[in-house]
Amino acid sequence: MQVHKYDVVIVGAGGAGMRAAIESGQRARTAVLTKLYPTRSHTGAAQGGMCAALANVEEDNWEWHTFDTVKGGDYLVDQDAAEVMAKEAIDAVLDLEKMGLPFNRTPEGRIDQRRFGGHTRDHGKAPVRRACYAADRTGHMILQTLYQNCVKHNVEFYNEYYVLDLLIVEEDAVREDGTPYQQKRVAGVVSYDLASGELHVFQAKAVVFATGGAGKVFKTTSNAHTLTGDGMGIAFRRGLPLEDMEFFQFHPTGLAGLGILLSEAARGEGAILRNSEGERFMERYAPTIKDLAPRDIVARSMANEVREGRGAGPNKDYVLLDLTHLEPAHIDAKLPDITEFARTYLGVEPYTEPVPVYPTAHYAMGGVPTNIKGEVLQDNETIVPGLYAAGEVACVSVHGSNRLGTNSLLDINVFGKRSGIAAAEYAKTAEFVELPEDPAAGTVALLDAVRNSSGTERIASIRADLQETMDANMQVFRTADSIAAALADIEKLRERYKNISIQDKGKRFNLDLLEAVELGFLLDLAEVMTVAALHRKESRGGHYREDFPDRDDVNFMKHSMLYRDPDAETEGIKGIRFGTKPVVFTRYEPMERKY
Ligand SMILES: Cc1cc2nc3c(=O)[nH]c(=O)nc-3n(C[C@H](O)[C@H](O)[C@H](O)COP(=O)(O)OP(=O)(O)OC[C@H]3O[C@@H](n4cnc5c(N)ncnc54)[C@H](O)[C@@H]3O)c2cc1C
Repeated sequence: MQVHKYDVVIVGAGGAGMRAAIESGQRARTAVLTKLYPTRSHTGAAQGGMCAALANVEEDNWEWHTFDTVKGGDYLVDQDAAEVMAKEAIDAVLDLEKMGLPFNRTPEGRIDQRRFGGHTRDHGKAPVRRACYAADRTGHMILQTLYQNCVKHNVEFYNEYYVLDLLIVEEDAVREDGTPYQQKRVAGVVSYDLASGELHVFQAKAVVFATGGAGKVFKTTSNAHTLTGDGMGIAFRRGLPLEDMEFFQFHPTGLAGLGILLSEAARGEGAILRNSEGERFMERYAPTIKDLAPRDIVARSMANEVREGRGAGPNKDYVLLDLTHLEPAHIDAKLPDITEFARTYLGVEPYTEPVPVYPTAHYAMGGVPTNIKGEVLQDNETIVPGLYAAGEVACVSVHGSNRLGTNSLLDINVFGKRSGIAAAEYAKTAEFVELPEDPAAGTVALLDAVRNSSGTERIASIRADLQETMDANMQVFRTADSIAAALADIEKLRERYKNISIQDKGKRFNLDLLEAVELGFLLDLAEVMTVAALHRKESRGGHYREDFPDRDDVNFMKHSMLYRDPDAETEGIKGIRFGTKPVVFTRYEPMERKY
């Protein structure tokens, strides 16, 4: 086992991790550990855009953007965080422009902007053009640009290093009011080098988690195979809370039956959703902004059309995205990749035929709780000094119960930058925390348990069953019965997981071993999501309970905070403690959410 020492260790080389690294790398000795080669991170799959109220093509301002974000998130958004994000959005885009990102331009040479769901002018009056973009490969351009700039600033990368543990020590401490508590401090991380199978311990003054999302909890998803929520899982196992995990976003337009994403940019450029009768059904559900309503509303409307028998296709199980009225040249210029996906994967020609689409699991609104500096919370009052999180792994919370399209590429840039600066500044004055004795012991035990297990269960089969039940029971419509059914299945799968075996027992490139570990994270997270969903007896944003169809601000206008705690029990599940955290309000009172 090797031990390395850095001021700052960043876990993850997606947009959030690399944006943090650019800042930290110029201020402190920084290493980036990533399980994927950096430019393979999921940020590179992002299509439609990154929003900022530049007002390049239409009147706009950051206050309208803040309002849209708060309303889009169904008022569960921490409004101080949303204000920071909307204000700093403008610099975030200009930073990328200066780094060399090739944005689409207006004829005058300004950064062009397009429409996206839920982004409006003057508090909901009409859609506004706020999303900056590079055709339909905005994320690809962001990721490449950030990587090049990391190289320029000599950031050190440890590629295909899987972080499997966070080293935390606890100290006795006393709060201002005199009550004693255990203060957590970060000492470093433990990682597994895929190529050699060796463990590497990284001691660090500051650690930034930027490990991305957890979409692989579901079967039909836009997310890459690698999005297994490792960062959330590791933090949870180390006693840190997870916030608002019941809120998972289903993107309306996944290719039917496959889940591969067709960006909302299609509707931003004028595409229309239709049911089997050819009706533009969003006119009924969101009369003002129609197809450009927020994703939770559009996804539910689509599912409702299918349930009421107006689905298209032989099984009437999808709706249609119609681009046929758009000029082929316009489609080629603005949406080249996604229209090619429709041709390749469904054999449909978007110039002349509507594309079959259905909601696909897309984005985790919840995650590791942080404040606006990116500092991770160990409970409502206390941060963990030296520990930061940014991007999809984190919950700031700027997305509340439903994220607006293009706000995530923005989030990773704004809060990636903030956490990179904060981590490096912290490292300048902080001391290293002494590593625990035998720092890799937990990781060795975790890996040995998988390697030496000689059961009969296969990883792929447990994962498939997990994804099946999550799709069936935790999708856009939920009830107490469906959630409980998912939870019962998850408990059975956790039992089966104790009886696994893997075929590859070797040291080098042992993906069998790592997929088993990743499945462990997915099972933990699925349990947390369902417990939180069962507990939230209201409908808000991406969490829709048919048995409680209304938003209930009296009882549920608060964040969920779930902790791993052997002495606790929540919704009949032992080992999970439930808490809440107040929502931060600045200027927006909750209103009825109409579009
Ligand atoms: C198909 C698709 C299209 C999208 N389009 C848009 C869009 O147009 N606009 C928008 O705003 N949002 C979009 N999103 C959402 C947005 O792209 C993501 O939320 C965002 O890019 C996440 O960035 P990230 O840096 O947090 O994580 P990622 O980019 O997912 O990076 C995670 C990093 O963590 C590393 N990692 C993970 N686990 C470990 C571990 N155990 N050890 C070490 N490293 C680890 C990985 O190697 C990777 O480098 C889209 C998402 C998808 C899936």
